[in-house]
Amino acid sequence: MGQSSLLKNYINGQWCLSSAQEQIPVDNPATADVLATVPLSPVAEVDQAAQAAASAYREWRRVPPMERVQYLFKLKGLLEANQEALAQLVTQECGKTLAESRGELQRAIENVEVACGIPILMQGTVSEDIARGIDEFMIRQPLGVAAVIAPFNFPAMIPFWFMPYALACGNTYLVKPSEKVPLTMQKIFELIDQAGFPPGVVNLVNGAKEAVDAILQHPVIRAISFVGSSPVARYIYSQAAAHGKRVQCQGGAKNPIIVLPDADMEMTTRIAADSAFGCAGQRCLAASLAVTVGEAKEPFTDAIANTAASRIVGNGLDTGVQMGPVITAASRERIEALIQQGVEEGATVLVDGRSPTIPGLEKGNFVRPTLLQDVPPEGEIARTEIFGPVLGLMHVETIDDAIALVNRSPWGNMACLFTNSGAAARKFRYEAEAGNIGINIGVAAPMAFFPFSGWKESFFGDLHGQGHHAIEFFTQTKVVVERWPKEWSRQF
Ligand code: NAD
Repeated sequence: MGQSSLLKNYINGQWCLSSAQEQIPVDNPATADVLATVPLSPVAEVDQAAQAAASAYREWRRVPPMERVQYLFKLKGLLEANQEALAQLVTQECGKTLAESRGELQRAIENVEVACGIPILMQGTVSEDIARGIDEFMIRQPLGVAAVIAPFNFPAMIPFWFMPYALACGNTYLVKPSEKVPLTMQKIFELIDQAGFPPGVVNLVNGAKEAVDAILQHPVIRAISFVGSSPVARYIYSQAAAHGKRVQCQGGAKNPIIVLPDADMEMTTRIAADSAFGCAGQRCLAASLAVTVGEAKEPFTDAIANTAASRIVGNGLDTGVQMGPVITAASRERIEALIQQGVEEGATVLVDGRSPTIPGLEKGNFVRPTLLQDVPPEGEIARTEIFGPVLGLMHVETIDDAIALVNRSPWGNMACLFTNSGAAARKFRYEAEAGNIGINIGVAAPMAFFPFSGWKESFFGDLHGQGHHAIEFFTQTKVVVERWPKEWSRQF
C-alpha cells in the first residue's frame, strides 16, 4: 500500500469508500514513511454497519453453532496461511520486531481455536424434577450486535480476544480498530471476506472519537468491548452503561516485578528485560517497576543495567533487532518528558535512552531502554503509566514491604515475583492485588482459555476478555421452567 491508498470500511459484505471529511496518514514509526491514509468515518457509516449487523443477526443466530464454527475454522486456516504477511504488516505500522508480531498473530489464532469449541462451551444446564414432573433449564442465547474498540499496541491480537467468541455465540459484529494501526485489520478483513461469512455478520469501520461515540450511542449495539488507556476506558464504561449496554473495558497499567535475593539472577534479568523493553515497553503487561528485596539490589541492578544498555534497537523488520520504535513522535516526547519528571522527583537516570541516533532511521520515533533508579514510591512517576521502554527501580527490605507497595498501587493488571521459594510464591499470589500474576514469568499473559483478568484501575466491568468470561459476556441466560400435563405425556 502507498500513501495514496485510502483504506476502506467493510460493511454488509462489501468494501466501501468512506465519505469522511477527515483522513489521516498511517506512518511507519521506524521510518516515518506514510503507509496509507485512514478515513475517520462519520456517524452515518457506523449506523450503516450497525444496521447491517442487526439485519444479519436475525439469520445468524439461527445457524447451528456447529455450522457457525466452520467459518472460524476456515478463518483460522487463512490466518495461518497469511501469518507471515500479517506479521510484516504489524511490524510496519506498529514498530515491534517481527518475532513479536509473529507471536501476536499466534495469540490471535489461539483465540479462534478456543472459540471453535463453542458447541460445548455455550451449553446450558438442566435440573430434572425441581418439583414432581417439572424440569428447569438454563440456556445461553446471543445478545445481538456487539462491537470492539481497539488500541494501537496489538493491531492483530486484541480484536480476537472478543470477536471469535461473539460470532461463535451467534452475535454479529463491528470492529473499530485504532486509527494509528488500521492496516492489519484491513488485511484480516480480506481474509474474513474469503472465509465467506454471510453479509453483515462481521463489519469494519475505521475511525476515531466520532465513530466511537456513534458506537456508544447506537440503539442496536448491545455490547461493547474496549481495550485502551484508563481515562478512555472510564469514559467508554460510563457512556456505554448510560446507554444501557453491556460493557467490558480493559485499561492501562503500571506493572511491578519483585525480585527476591534467592531468585536466579541470570534468568530474572533476561525475563525482566524482555518484559520491560519488549514491544518497546508498549504492552499493558510490560514490567515498569522492578522492586528489589534485601540483597537482590546490587546483582539485579548491575545485570539489568548491562542488559538495557546493550539491547539492539532499530527497524523491527531487520534481523537481529531486539526493540523497535514507539508508536508516534508525540509518544516519544511524552516518554522523554516523563523520564525528566522522574529525575525532578528524585530518581537517577542509570541508563539514559533519550534522543538516540539510530543510523539510517533518523526520522523514526526511537527511545532506547532507560533505567530510572531510586524511584520515590510516593512520586507521580511511580504511578503514571509511561508506556515506553522505561523501567523504574525501587528497593525494600522485606517481601511484606514489596507486597504492600504492589497493593498501594491504583493499578492491578499484573504483578510478578522472582524467587526460588515456593512459600514466598504462594504468599505473593495469595496477597498481591492484581488480576494477572507471574511467578518467575515477566509477561503473565493469559492463554485464550483463561480470562485476561485486570483489576482496579486496569479494568472496568465484570467479565473480562477470553475464555469462559467471553462466553458469558456474549450470551444472555434464559431460564425455562417446564411442566407437561400427564394426559398429554401418557400418549407417548
Ligand atoms: P487509547 O485509549 O488512546 O485508544 C484506544 C481506542 O479508543 C482507539 O480505538 C481510539 O480511537 C479510541 N479513543 C481514543 N481516545 C478517545 C476518546 N477521547 N473518545 C473516544 N474514543 C477514543 O489507547 P492506545 O494509546 O491506543 O493504547 C494504549 C493503551 O492501551 C495503554 O494504556 C495500554 O496499557 C492499554 N492497553 C490495555 C490492555 C489491557 O488488556 N488492559 C491491552 C493493551 C493495551
